[in-house]
Amino acid sequence: MSKASPYFKNLNRDLIFVTIEQKVSEFIESDPEIKEVLNFGVGDVAFPIKPHIQQALHDAIDDVGTHVRGYGPSTGQAFLKKAIIDSEYGKYGIKPSEIFISDGIMSDASSIIHLFDESTRIAIPDPTYPVYLDACVLSGRTSSLKKGYYPEIVYLPCDESTNFVPKPPKKKCDLVFLCSPNNPTGCALTKEELEVWIEYAHKHDAIIVLDAAYEAFIHTENTPKSIYEIPNARNVAIELRSFSKTAGFSGLRLSYAVIPDKVKVSAGKEHVSLNKYWTTRQNVTFNGPSYIIQKAGAASLTKQGKEETQNDIKIYLECGTRLKQAISDQGFECFGGLNSPYLWWKCPESMTSWDFFDYLLHKHGMVTIPGCGFGPRGKGFIRMSSFTTEEKTEKAIERIKQIKI
Ligand code: PLP
Repeated sequence: MSKASPYFKNLNRDLIFVTIEQKVSEFIESDPEIKEVLNFGVGDVAFPIKPHIQQALHDAIDDVGTHVRGYGPSTGQAFLKKAIIDSEYGKYGIKPSEIFISDGIMSDASSIIHLFDESTRIAIPDPTYPVYLDACVLSGRTSSLKKGYYPEIVYLPCDESTNFVPKPPKKKCDLVFLCSPNNPTGCALTKEELEVWIEYAHKHDAIIVLDAAYEAFIHTENTPKSIYEIPNARNVAIELRSFSKTAGFSGLRLSYAVIPDKVKVSAGKEHVSLNKYWTTRQNVTFNGPSYIIQKAGAASLTKQGKEETQNDIKIYLECGTRLKQAISDQGFECFGGLNSPYLWWKCPESMTSWDFFDYLLHKHGMVTIPGCGFGPRGKGFIRMSSFTTEEKTEKAIERIKQIKI
């Protein structure tokens, strides 16, 4: 009989979304009179694709009906790379060959690990988006959990003790995942905080992978949207960006990785560009995202596309600000939300993340996500997403005002 990979057994993560779904449907079934349940759990967009992008999708469909558009380049279409450089990365001197178009950060963040030797020491924020850790586990970089932690991973605490900012560890690490603005804490790293990481990477010959899925939400001064705003980052950092939250593409699937030529890894006696390895990886395992979706991505980067998508982001940020104010007015501590669509709501002392989740669901009909699903240091918090409408925000504020613990 074929043998299964032994590493799946090490993936001992709470299947949190399954549990949440079950709890919500049990709650709804328990009482047919239940008023509307407001879902602030999912971190997914609340508005449809904007008109300018929709038009580009229609045009691209007409185009594939009149022209043969077979396989495209596996690293992405030249027109989209040009749009990305013109709109985002030209100012940092990034070239088209340093941009790799993909079908989602999820894919890239989970594949990047395969470019590194098994001895690579990996640092990951705690709490954060779970894919970096899960990919390490599934690729056999860890043994089983010990007291909630994998001993092989260097965890970077992102809790109140660090003001939610991941700090460089004393240990030398080779590969560091950062997420800014971070999901779930909503913390976006300042220029100085990123500089410290670039310094660390140079000192230790480490590579930083910055997940910038929520960069479009950054609007405060001194908070870079790209790590390449930091001098010398191009030698040590790669950046992952997505159209999912920036332009509402979570269902269309489009993203890109920026991997500068200067980022090197050692291969025996040689120093090899990571860009070359990733080019090979894309050529042998990926045929590029759909032509139609790449056309839509390019439309989202035009002046009109940006105006339309930025308007949605403005609404999400405003909803977040209003919800956070309502939560604070009730006497709770609530973090994030400033440069991010996520509020990080501290549970009352007497409650765990799951207790508070249950309380908000059963007493106030609101769905959130228990913080423990994002890492051990997420315990004692819940994540509330502001990917929502103004109407639902108003309803939620009325319910928050009723909370009495
Ligand atoms: N990175 C972070 C931090 C996320 O929160 C998410 C989705 O929630 C993703 C990446 C997934 O991005 P994509 O839709 O491009 O796969």
